[in-house]
Amino acid sequence: MSVVVVGSVAFDSIKTPTGSIDETLGGSAVHFSLAASLFGPVRLVGVVGSDFPAEHRDLLSSRGIDLEGLETVEGGETFRWSGEYHRDMDQRDTLSVELNVFEDFEPKIPRSYRGGNFLFLGNGSPVTQASVLDQMDNAPLVVVDTMDLWIQTARSELESLLGRVDLLVLNEQEASLLSDEKNVVKAGRIIQKMGPRFVVIKQGQHGSLISHRGGEVSLPALPLAEVEDPTGAGDSFAGGMLGALSRASSSDLDSLKVSVAWGTVTASFCCQGFGVAGILSADRELLQERFEQYRKMIDLGTASIPQLAP
Ligand code: AMP
Repeated sequence: MSVVVVGSVAFDSIKTPTGSIDETLGGSAVHFSLAASLFGPVRLVGVVGSDFPAEHRDLLSSRGIDLEGLETVEGGETFRWSGEYHRDMDQRDTLSVELNVFEDFEPKIPRSYRGGNFLFLGNGSPVTQASVLDQMDNAPLVVVDTMDLWIQTARSELESLLGRVDLLVLNEQEASLLSDEKNVVKAGRIIQKMGPRFVVIKQGQHGSLISHRGGEVSLPALPLAEVEDPTGAGDSFAGGMLGALSRASSSDLDSLKVSVAWGTVTASFCCQGFGVAGILSADRELLQERFEQYRKMIDLGTASIPQLAP
């Protein structure tokens, strides 16, 4: 089974306390695809201008990412984003956004992508996200990402989209804004009532919370001594999670827990290099090795556990 992703393809300019980079390959669909491609085939839907170089296409194709759905607007310019991180790498300021060809993007899903694949609707207008869902014949699992901009400017469209999706992935601040609730557990429960079976709330270096019909599951982040650049960590997390779910061809709670663990480990690679360099430094062997480390870290081991009650 493949994963279909719809999202931004960008040139990112990034500053962090350890360095900076200009106009590097980025965008939600790119970070997601590179992460998900470590698990299996990925089909990308996005838009670029004629300034998008062949070497970027070649890189994505070389990772098994199908680019039939990548539209090129002749004479147009690719989406550009710039951001800066301060000492606390969980906080980022957006310095500029030039939507360019992304502004009028109307995703067209190639016929070959439409049936039977898991779908990731990357951060975008909920109206555009709904138009993608309308074009899919049958997606056994639909996962959607959103951000504060859409919660503030298109809440009713977002709420009607949430009635049609299986899983919403968002960060803690976005969850609090959407639910009007500061407590993350209560926020997850409120959002679930809006429609999705599962809500995955990303808490940066504090890990993530899965809110499901029967309660909550919390998984820690993989502790990293050095973080170069967290740009794309959220999308890499989603890519690893959906890649793992699609490889298991399953979307029950047990599979989701394991997949969130894979997403966590995948995102840790993203943070260790600028732009896409971090995720590109991963291969299946390194990812597997790090997953085993993570698994050991969350295992309570074999020490005897005191019984306090009969
Ligand atoms: P993340 O760090 O996971 O939130 O994702 C960062 C990526 O999102 C960057 O590569 C940006 O190019 C992309 N991005 C930033 N703002 C937007 C936006 N408004 N719509 C779509 N993609 C965006």
